[in-house]
Amino acid sequence: MSSPPVADFISREERFGARNYEPLGVVLSRGEGVFVWDTQGNRYLDCLSAYSAVNQGHCHPKILAAMVEQAGRLTLTSRAFHNDQLALFYEEIAELTGSHKVLPMNSGAEAVESAIKSVRKWGYEVKGVPDGQAEIIVCANNFHGRTLGIVGFSTDAATREHFGPFAPGFKIIPFGDLAALKDAITPNTVAFLVEPIQGEAGVIIPPAGYFTGVRELCTAHDVMLILDEIQTGLGRTGKLLAEQHEGIEADVTLLGKALSGGFYPVSAVLSNNEVLGTLKPGQHGSTFGGNPLACAVARAALRVLVEEGMIENAAVQGERFLKGLRSIRANTVRDVRGRGLMLAVELNPEAGRARRYCDALQTEGILAKDTHEHTIRFAPPLVITSDQVDWALERIAAALTQDFA
Ligand SMILES: *Cc1c(COP(=O)(O)O)cnc(C)c1O
Repeated sequence: MSSPPVADFISREERFGARNYEPLGVVLSRGEGVFVWDTQGNRYLDCLSAYSAVNQGHCHPKILAAMVEQAGRLTLTSRAFHNDQLALFYEEIAELTGSHKVLPMNSGAEAVESAIKSVRKWGYEVKGVPDGQAEIIVCANNFHGRTLGIVGFSTDAATREHFGPFAPGFKIIPFGDLAALKDAITPNTVAFLVEPIQGEAGVIIPPAGYFTGVRELCTAHDVMLILDEIQTGLGRTGKLLAEQHEGIEADVTLLGKALSGGFYPVSAVLSNNEVLGTLKPGQHGSTFGGNPLACAVARAALRVLVEEGMIENAAVQGERFLKGLRSIRANTVRDVRGRGLMLAVELNPEAGRARRYCDALQTEGILAKDTHEHTIRFAPPLVITSDQVDWALERIAAALTQDFA
C-alpha cells in the first residue's frame, strides 16, 4: 500500500500544529543506524541525529530490547515508591561519569532548571549568600533549552521576544573570555553555567586553555561550574564528556538527549555531594523523573555507547570527517570547525542562506540542519563508518559547489 503524498502530511501539520519549527520538506517513517527513510522509501544519511539525541544510531536493537522488556514489566511508579531500575541507573551513571549524586529528570531543559534551583539552594545554605541574592553567570549565544527560566537569559532575540517578564539573577558574559568571567564574579555568585562547545550557536569551540582557567577561577571563588553537556556529552566530541578534552571536572554536569539513545526523554543532573545534597524530600521532583522505563532505556543506552566503542569511533571518524570537510574547495565556505562528530561548515554570507544548501543536501541523500542563517551542522550518529563518511563528503562537496544561479 503506498503512503499518502508528502505534501499531505506537511499541509496537515501546518493546519493543526503550532508552527514553532521550520522542518525540511521530508517526512520520515523509519530509521536504522545512521540511516532514515522517508514515506516514499528514499534513504538518507542522518547528519543531525536529532540534535545529538541518537548518538547510538536509530532504533539500536539492544536499547529497543531493553525498552520493550521493561515496558511489558513496569513503566511508572512515581518516586512515591522505589523501583528496581533506579538504583542500578544511579550506580552505573555515577560510576561511568565519576559523579557522587544523580538527579533524574526528563527533558534537557528540566535538567538545566533543576541545576539552577540546586546551585541557588547550595549558595544560600552552604556558601552563605544572602537569601534572594544568588547570581549565576552564563554566556552570550548560549543554548540551554526553552523554558521560561532559561530563555530569560538567552541573548537570541527570537528566543526571548515577547515571552517576558523573566526571572532575575543571571549575568551574561562573552563565551571564551576568561577576563570577563573574573570581572563578573562577586561574593554572591553561586555558579557559572556554560556549554563546553556552543552547539546551537554553530559549534563554537573556545580558545585552548579556556576551561582550565574557568576551573581555576570557579575553584578560587567557590563558584559551582555547571557544564551543560546535553549536546556535547555521551561521546559526541570523541570523549565520554567534552570536559575530558580540557582535563577538568565540572561540579555539576547536565546530560540529556543521547542518555536514552533517542528512545525516550531522559535527562540527569550529576554533581558532587554538596550541590544535590542540599535537596531534601518535597523540595523538588518530577512525576516521570527516574521512572523504571526511563532508567532501563538509559542503562542500555550507556552500555552500548561504551561496549560498542562508539566514543572511540566518534574520535576517529570525526577526524576523518573534519579533514574531508577542510579539503573541500568551494568559495561558498568561510570556516570549517568541529571536535569529534560535532562539526560545522560556516558559509560566506554571499553564498546565501544555509537552508538552501540543506535542501540541496537532501536531494543528495543527506539530512543536515542549518543553524543561525549561514552555518550547516554535521553530527551523524556515532556508529558511522569510514565508507559512510567518505560517501557523505562527496555529497557535501557536490552540494557546496552547486550553482544556484
Ligand atoms: C538540546 C539542549 C538543551 C535542551 O534539551 P531539551 O531536551 O530540548 O529540553 C539544553 N542544552 C543544550 C546544550 C542542548 O543542546
